[in-house]
Amino acid sequence: MKYCRFELNNEHHYGLIEPVAGREMITRAVLMPPGSDASMDELPTRKIEHIPVTEAKLLPPTLPSKIVAVGRNYVAHARELNNEVPAELIIFLKPPSSVIGPGKAIRRPKDSQRVDYEAELAVIIGKRCRHVREDEDVKPYIRGYTCLNDVTARDLQRKDGQWTRGKGFDTFCPVGPVVNDELDPWAGLLVESRVNGEVRQHGTTKDLIFPLDVVVRYISRVMTLFPGDLIATGTPEGVGSLNAGDVVEISVEGVGTLSNPVVDET
Ligand code: MG
Repeated sequence: MKYCRFELNNEHHYGLIEPVAGREMITRAVLMPPGSDASMDELPTRKIEHIPVTEAKLLPPTLPSKIVAVGRNYVAHARELNNEVPAELIIFLKPPSSVIGPGKAIRRPKDSQRVDYEAELAVIIGKRCRHVREDEDVKPYIRGYTCLNDVTARDLQRKDGQWTRGKGFDTFCPVGPVVNDELDPWAGLLVESRVNGEVRQHGTTKDLIFPLDVVVRYISRVMTLFPGDLIATGTPEGVGSLNAGDVVEISVEGVGTLSNPVVDET
C-alpha cells in the first residue's frame, strides 16, 4: 500500500495512492482524528474524486514523537568525513519541530556557514515497541518507508562536539512525499540525492553497516518507540553543502522523490 498525508478543504487527511491510467492518484481518503496515531489501514476510508499526487497539497507523512537517526551507517560515508567505521551503532535525536513536508523550504540558519543534505531511507514505526527480542521479527513494528533529508549544520556539529544544534534546527528534517509499506530494504533500495538536478549521492541500503533489524532492536533497548516515530537509517557517501536558491531532492526506490527549496533565514 502507498499512502500520503495531505490537506483538503483546510483539513488533514490520509490519502490512499493507486495507479489510475498510468498516473499516481489519491483515490480514497480519511480525515485524521486529532491526536490519533492510527495508521491508514486502521481507518475507514471513503472514495474521493481522484487527485493526482503531484497536484495534492502534501504534508509530512507522519507526526513523530521523535526522530531517531543513525550516524555513519555506510562505510564510504564514514570515511569521506575522516571518521572511523563504527564498531557499535551511533544514534542521535532530531526534534519533531525540525520536520517539514515536501516542497517546504529548508532555512539555512544565520549561525551556520555550512548546511549539508543527507539522503536517507526512513522507517515509520507502526506499533509501540520496547525491548524487541533477538529472535523477534522487526517487520511487524514497521508501518512503512519514506524519504528523509537529515539536514545538518556541519560546522556546528563539529564545533559543539555533540549534534543537538547541528541536526536540530527548524526545517532540518524534510520527510515524504509518500509512504510505501511493501518495500524490502534488506534486499537493497537505491537512495539518491540531487542538487539542482545533479546527482550527488547514489547508494543502496544493501550497504548499511547495521541493517534495519539491528537498528530497531538497538533503539528499542534504549527508548520506547511509538507509532509514527521515524528512524533515519544513515546516509551514503557524497554529502555536500546547500546554498540559498538550490533545490534538493531525495529519492528512495519505491517511494518517490522528496523535493525542497533552500533559503537563507531572514
Ligand atoms: Mg544522517
